[in-house]
Amino acid sequence: MDQPLPFDAAKALENAKDIVCPLCNANTFENIVMIKKISALMSPTGQESIIPLPAYRCTECKRVLEQEDIEGTKLDAPKLKLI
Ligand SMILES: [Zn+2]
Repeated sequence: MDQPLPFDAAKALENAKDIVCPLCNANTFENIVMIKKISALMSPTGQESIIPLPAYRCTECKRVLEQEDIEGTKLDAPKLKLI
């Protein structure tokens, strides 16, 4: 019986690409929450709703990371050569 390979988190992280801030290239972010208010007209309940959305903010320049920033991160960027 074939067993699926156990997920090797260490190996996966070794090949993982850092998401960096498009403005300052920092690679550390902090959790923030953006809060959206949905009007009664748009809300499925017919009442105004408050929706918290988790987001990330650059710890250096405080830019909020957009979805495009994450998707724009190239996975096939040339690797730095170790000399
Ligand atoms: Zn930044």
